[in-house]
Amino acid sequence: MSVLELRDLHVTYRGERGDVPAVRGVNLALEAGDTLGLAGESGCGKSTIAGAVLRLLPKETTIAGQVLLDGEDVYAMKPGRLRAARWTSAAIVFQGALHSLNPVKRIGWQIEEAVLLHTKVSGKAARSRAQDLLVRVGIPADRLDHYPHQLSGGQRQRVLIALALACDPKVLIADEPTTALDVMVQAQVLALLEELQREKELALLFITHDLSVLTSTCRRLAVMYAGRVVEEGPSELVFTDPQHPYSRALAAAFPTIGDPASRMQPQGLAGDPPDPAALPSGCPFHLRCAVATPECTTVDVALRDAGPSRRAACVLVGGAHD
Ligand code: ADP
Ligand code: MG
Repeated sequence: MSVLELRDLHVTYRGERGDVPAVRGVNLALEAGDTLGLAGESGCGKSTIAGAVLRLLPKETTIAGQVLLDGEDVYAMKPGRLRAARWTSAAIVFQGALHSLNPVKRIGWQIEEAVLLHTKVSGKAARSRAQDLLVRVGIPADRLDHYPHQLSGGQRQRVLIALALACDPKVLIADEPTTALDVMVQAQVLALLEELQREKELALLFITHDLSVLTSTCRRLAVMYAGRVVEEGPSELVFTDPQHPYSRALAAAFPTIGDPASRMQPQGLAGDPPDPAALPSGCPFHLRCAVATPECTTVDVALRDAGPSRRAACVLVGGAHD
């Protein structure tokens, strides 16, 4: 059984000028100890999925479909059960650690408090668990009684990772955890996440717009566009041999390491993803697609087979040319 499963998830925000269908029918499954990357440009609905998993979205948001944690429907949980699930079943690391930590509490105590609230241990055991976790994420022991503002950005992000792991969740959702950091610090935080994922056999849902990061960190990849998954498959294949024109454009936007020619000419993609409140007819990508056919202006195809354990949502994939 999957530790996290999304079944035909739809999320619609109540915007000032009407409904914003930010996620439109997403199916995803994550097994224990497995890693899944969620890619796509800003605005495609990635963070909305992260928020939907633990019911962290604004009250007036409409959710349809199901989110299952270990087979249990998150939207059917009573408040007490939900609070526990937020720490012990799944935890989220967001970007921008400065805003997620309490500025007036010492970092050691913030972790200790989480352990005390959600697990049955003594104060002494909670303190020692907080210390172990902070040391594990590379925060020197003499920093435990520091306040968030006394730490660097990379250290704060590592404290957030320690906090997310405080109650041994099975699922860790990392939403752009390295985006706000310097390049060198990004690499450190990424390496730490990869180590912890393996060591604790976490199911990891890693969200970022950076396809190359996902390819090295995640076994499978799902590419989102305009609130839908448009391609999914083994990371390496999605990155090196993308089937959907949008994944192709995303992959081409990254220079190939060691290939000076591609570094000199990174291929971008003009324009922006559509506003979910005003989606075009047909395939939502057709306005930016280099290979769009007249059919694409009217038909929005569902995900279809695109090779072994691969699927893509494009009229040019599968049936059309085999
Ligand atoms: P991503 O994480 O991929 O950048 P998001 O999930 O943050 O995308 O946003 C998806 C879409 O939902 C965007 O168009 C965004 O403007 C819209 N959106 C996000 N939060 C809200 C909200 N609280 N109210 C209305 N629209 C929102
Ligand atoms: Mg986001």
